[in-house]
Amino acid sequence: MSPRDIRCEEVIEQLFDYLDRELDEEMQHRIERHIEHCRDCFTRAEFEKRLRRRLGETSRVAAPESLHRRLREVMESF
Ligand SMILES: [Zn+2]
Repeated sequence: MSPRDIRCEEVIEQLFDYLDRELDEEMQHRIERHIEHCRDCFTRAEFEKRLRRRLGETSRVAAPESLHRRLREVMESF
C-alpha cells in the first residue's frame, strides 16, 4: 500500500463530493482507484449511485442535507 493510497474512512467521508465530482482531480482519482480495489467502498458507492439515479428520476433537485445524514447513518450501520 503506497502512501498515496487513502483509507476507507476517507473515501466514505468524501463519497458524496466524489459522486458530485466536486473534488480536485487527484482526490477524485485516488478514490476511484480505491473503489476499484475495495469491495466495501465499491458497494457503498454503488448503493449511493443507484439511490441518486432513482432520486434523479423523480426530481433534479439535490437531496436535502437531512437525507444525506440519514444515508450516512444507513451506510455506517452496514
Ligand atoms: Zn475501502
